[in-house]
Amino acid sequence: MNIILFGPPGAGKGTQGYHLAKEFNLYNISTGDLLREEVKKKNDLSKKINLLINEGKLVSDEIIKDLIKNIISNKKFTNKLIFDGYPRNLNQAKTLDLLLKKFNQNISFVFNIKVDQDIVTKRILGRQTCSKCGSIFNKFFNPATSINHNCDEKFLVTRLDDNETIISKRYEVYTNQTLPILEYYNNQNLLHEIDGMVDFTMIFNEISGIIKSLEA
Ligand code: AMP
Repeated sequence: MNIILFGPPGAGKGTQGYHLAKEFNLYNISTGDLLREEVKKKNDLSKKINLLINEGKLVSDEIIKDLIKNIISNKKFTNKLIFDGYPRNLNQAKTLDLLLKKFNQNISFVFNIKVDQDIVTKRILGRQTCSKCGSIFNKFFNPATSINHNCDEKFLVTRLDDNETIISKRYEVYTNQTLPILEYYNNQNLLHEIDGMVDFTMIFNEISGIIKSLEA
């Protein structure tokens, strides 16, 4: 099965994707993470990508298509994908359909994790990711401690685009360009609405429950 996790920045897609991947033996693919890896290469393309990310704008569909094609064409990932942060506009949604068709796959579920903008902002401002193990924490809601995290504190990083100005730009891009895709998936009966205002475990249980009931 292939899954799309949909929702505004800070909805918890990364955290849910990480745990759903473990539970269902899937791979969580975040286009944001793929782009941040590209940025590390420090070439002309990576500079352009970095600029767009730090302005809260979308990176071009062509760049995203190349990254996603590499993943979908890889047999290791066949029908084992969770897409986090992709597709971000209607053109990307249509490209995804074409790529999946080309490699004999389809989408099984689209989960729309719904969260209000003020909560999203708080979640993003507190977000910390461990650069060593990949775990995601939140300074306010779920801080890293010696009990829930084995790596040294120095590995905890805050993303440069996780600041108030860029967050509101990212939210605006989400509302104008990403949100309209929901209609596209609703028309295909793939859409499941999830209350993202409750705690992590409740969201996880709701999504897992739907997958188990429909996959059985
Ligand atoms: P994220 O990690 O999903 O919050 O993404 C961080 C940033 O990477 C976004 O604000 C965009 O600049 C860029 N990005 C991530 N995914 C995409 C995508 N599918 N299409 C275009 N830009 C993206």
